[in-house]
Amino acid sequence: MTDPFLRPDPRLEGELRTLQHPGLPRHLVAQPPLPTDAMWMARALERAREAALVGEVPVGAVVVESSQVAGRGRIIAEGRNRTRQDVDPTAHAEIVALRAAGRRLGRSRLPGTTLYVTLEPCAQCAGAAVLARVDRLVYGAADPKAGMAGSLGNLLQDPRLNHRIQVTPGVLAPEAGALLTEFFRERRS
Ligand SMILES: [Zn+2]
Repeated sequence: MTDPFLRPDPRLEGELRTLQHPGLPRHLVAQPPLPTDAMWMARALERAREAALVGEVPVGAVVVESSQVAGRGRIIAEGRNRTRQDVDPTAHAEIVALRAAGRRLGRSRLPGTTLYVTLEPCAQCAGAAVLARVDRLVYGAADPKAGMAGSLGNLLQDPRLNHRIQVTPGVLAPEAGALLTEFFRERRS
């Protein structure tokens, strides 16, 4: 059986490139990772592992000050999927982290921040990132079934919306994908 999460992601390779997709809008403009992206993604993966321990789909997210991403950085908030615990279909890792970041900073918009998430965001979370006005979104594994940062479409860079987000896909994608694959394999057995 082919494993969509473990399939090599062509977006991992090369410099800035444009990907063509059949949906609307038609492409993702992907930025290469910054040196500290893997470190923050590792932290998001820790949150994802915590989710798995309590039976939640293992997805984690971290909000970091963009201006300091290239240096030592400062974390603003983090979160993990908690849809089952909260009995809330919207309680995805990104939403949990963005809400916590808004509370922490005392504002509903978060320019100057980067959102790290272990799985390509769904329509809800990509939309929330646009509403939050985050500068960058960095994700791990692609989600061929629900991803709206290049897989099914691209809500993050739609020129018709009044905010667009820089995107770096594929950071620690094998680790993020393996966590999801393992989780669903155990649930099936
Ligand atoms: Zn989501």
